[in-house]
Amino acid sequence: MNADLHCHSNVSDGTLSPEAVAERAHRNGVQLWSLTDHDEIGGQHRARAAASALGMDYLPGVEISVTFANKTVHIVGLGFDPDDPAMCQGLADTRGGRERRARDMADDLARVGIPGAFEGALKYVGNPDLISRTHFARYMVEIGICTDPHEVFRRYLVEGKPGFVEHRWAKLSDAVHWIVDAGGVAVIAHPGRYDFTPNEEFALFTEFKALGGRGVEVVTGSHTVAEYGKYADMAREFDMLASRGSDFHDPAESHTDLGTLPDLPGQLTPVWEALASRVLHP
Ligand code: AMP
Ligand code: MN
Ligand code: MN
Ligand code: MN
Repeated sequence: MNADLHCHSNVSDGTLSPEAVAERAHRNGVQLWSLTDHDEIGGQHRARAAASALGMDYLPGVEISVTFANKTVHIVGLGFDPDDPAMCQGLADTRGGRERRARDMADDLARVGIPGAFEGALKYVGNPDLISRTHFARYMVEIGICTDPHEVFRRYLVEGKPGFVEHRWAKLSDAVHWIVDAGGVAVIAHPGRYDFTPNEEFALFTEFKALGGRGVEVVTGSHTVAEYGKYADMAREFDMLASRGSDFHDPAESHTDLGTLPDLPGQLTPVWEALASRVLHP
């Protein structure tokens, strides 16, 4: 089964419309797709309609920004009701701090000689409610500060570097409850990307499961091959469902295209098996 259950459109920090992402996923052989924009489900009905028109199965999706142990963690929600009022309100609250944060980021960048970054980043924003660091990175490439967005994230916008602003996102418990109460499955996104100590990582998995979280991304564009093995072991140890997703944002920027990842390792239960009744067929 070619499932791609993690990617972004211009409703958050991707560059393609939900329809164009659907088209690309289908062209690349994806059979079950989910659009998982950051903190935003405004693209869900368009994504589902586009998938349906292409004959592709669809699961509603979202990637929620969470603060856990003073670090940012992403939780993917799959198969929930996209019209659930508590989910919609929770995500609106989570998005709410982004403009203030972006203005503070721009002030910090101005102090190191990069003025006008808020207005510059806004040119790249597809949804005024969702200004993200990715939009700043694209602007900083445009004006020649760096040659690509990855370099921006090495030299700016991350902890200890200019343009980083501490931010409180949703609580882990809230994010998991919004997803589960709306009928979905919560999944820890790209666990290999967090700089957690082994103890912190164990605490994340333990608390997440105790709250009702059930899944973990094993095969993602953010993991190395060694990490596929490590998180496959963790999924078995914690008796969790395994997910697979490219985290595609843009044809030029993303090194992993939609639907091109290897299959999940063996002896794992794919998250889509547990979500079979939630899959929206064309
Ligand atoms: P934000 O939600 O505003 O903090 O932005 C987070 C987004 O920044 C992530 O979803 C990625 O799309 C992007 N990002 C974070 N770190 C990197 C990196 N090292 N290289 C490229 N993009 C990154
Ligand atoms: Mn992103
Ligand atoms: Mn993420
Ligand atoms: Mn993502």
